[in-house]
Amino acid sequence: MREKITPYLKKLTHIPAISRQYQLSDNETEDNSYNDPLQEDEHEVVKGLVHKYANRALIKVSYQCAAHCRFCTRIRQIGKPEGTLTIKDIDNIITYLTVNKQIDDVILSGGDPLYCPSITLQILDRLQHIDSIKVLRIGSRLPLQLPSAIKAPALAPLLTHIKEISASKPFYILLHINHPSELTPEAIEAIRHLRSLGVTLLSQTVFLKGVNDDENTLTQLYKELYYAGVIPYYLYHCDNVHGIQHFAVAIARERAIATELTAKLSGIACPTYVIDIENGYGKIPVALNFTNTDANMLSDFNGNSHIIK
Ligand SMILES: *Cc1c(COP(=O)(O)O)cnc(C)c1O
Ligand code: SF4
Repeated sequence: MREKITPYLKKLTHIPAISRQYQLSDNETEDNSYNDPLQEDEHEVVKGLVHKYANRALIKVSYQCAAHCRFCTRIRQIGKPEGTLTIKDIDNIITYLTVNKQIDDVILSGGDPLYCPSITLQILDRLQHIDSIKVLRIGSRLPLQLPSAIKAPALAPLLTHIKEISASKPFYILLHINHPSELTPEAIEAIRHLRSLGVTLLSQTVFLKGVNDDENTLTQLYKELYYAGVIPYYLYHCDNVHGIQHFAVAIARERAIATELTAKLSGIACPTYVIDIENGYGKIPVALNFTNTDANMLSDFNGNSHIIK
């Protein structure tokens, strides 16, 4: 995955917590053969549609983002042109979602759906008419990577559409934020603009070694998100993708930090610590240190047990 950064982020690269997320380091080599531990490719039922959990499905709108995160779980795909959905791909996705009525919750992801507003608009326009779909979500880092884009004219038609949909169906925008230094005044202003659409804002975070693997950093992050009207959702262990493992933090350390957070934060401001385990078994919430359990022994959503190293 080539290095890609926005002019806005470039001005913030004097902050190590930002530069580590975006700049190529010596830890990454050309010969990293990126794998797909979440087995998204196996669960891709039609081009661009990942259906792993019975009631929810994830659409990859494209593989394009405003900036490339070095720890991305989809590092094997990001930046490649072939991920961009065509009208025909969208037709096939809509057919699948219309027929499979057990799917009530659809997530637009990628790549960044807000970075490809015209495709995202076309998809939403068709999703909103499927009665069995009750909830819509979009995952985006654009407010953190290029906050000025949120108020730019290019995004206005999509945001107006989201505002209209959110009047009838719950609409969630899930931001991805890893460090308080990402919450600049510009980013906060972009978040305020998104809140004005009537959507619920959530955030997700990945534990990254040397960026946010300490309780003070995360306490500050979650307080600032909570104050900005963003509800922390998941706090992830870094996925077991080859070539990004220099970011991985020990599970015992993460578990201790996640336990500490519950003492420092309002309940609403406290994320759920999860591991999206290998071989596509899915996300598993890890018991915190309040119960005397082995955090390396997990059961997945099908009831199967796995030992995590
Ligand atoms: C994370 C994910 C979802 C959504 O899971 P929630 O726990 O409902 O947020 C859906 N599909 C796939 C493939 C996912 O990875
Ligand atoms: S914005 Fe999201 S999808 Fe894009 S590179 Fe970063 S983590 Fe990956």
